[in-house]
Amino acid sequence: MTSQRTRNRLVQRLRDSGIRSQAVLDVIAQTPRHLFVDEALAHRAYEDTALPIGHGQTISQPLTVARMTEVLLEAGPLARVLEIGTGSGYQTAVLSPLVGTLYSVERIEPLHLKARQRLQQLNYRNVRLKLSDGTWGWPEYGLYDGILAAAAPDAVPDSLLQQLADGGRLIMPVGSQEQKLVLITRQGDNFSRKTLESVRFVPFLPGVQR
Ligand code: SAH
Repeated sequence: MTSQRTRNRLVQRLRDSGIRSQAVLDVIAQTPRHLFVDEALAHRAYEDTALPIGHGQTISQPLTVARMTEVLLEAGPLARVLEIGTGSGYQTAVLSPLVGTLYSVERIEPLHLKARQRLQQLNYRNVRLKLSDGTWGWPEYGLYDGILAAAAPDAVPDSLLQQLADGGRLIMPVGSQEQKLVLITRQGDNFSRKTLESVRFVPFLPGVQR
């Protein structure tokens, strides 16, 4: 149930659903999603669905993880990437082998601590995690070539736009009732915005919850 075979079946499903990047599919084939959910849910880890991770949050659906990763990396390699909403750490694990250094923030302390332990045990070395409110990004290590958020605000926070490097790409869900993935590309002081498909994410919430 947590075998390579079930994982390969998930990869085939993602391919059938339109994921084209072989690099992304390869990483998903190698990432043990069953270790990012509670043991009681491990048998469902390779279904293409979001699952609860506690604290009212969910591990993102594999298709959405694959799609956002593919879009983020579409224009070429990214040296520094910022993720908002570490959650279980699964999206972090998928991004890690595909980027230079990955910075990820989470506002709920127990999720942050558990993700840190998992990612350390699994030896993801280019990942830095922080407990904080992603509304403010992580200015110390910016500017970022890529920014990805796994929670939906009503509008893209201005600090995230300011932490995007020239030529950088930001992808995140935006909206409350109806959410859409939004891709923003920075060219100098110009931010061009493209609206992609509808998605469902947990809300982007302010503050840190201990
Ligand atoms: N990609 C993660 C998704 C987790 S759900 C996974 O697959 O596990 C989204 C996460 O974003 C939740 O853990 C939630 O606590 C976090 N989040 C929401 N608003 C945030 C904010 N303002 N700053 C940091 N994290 C936030």
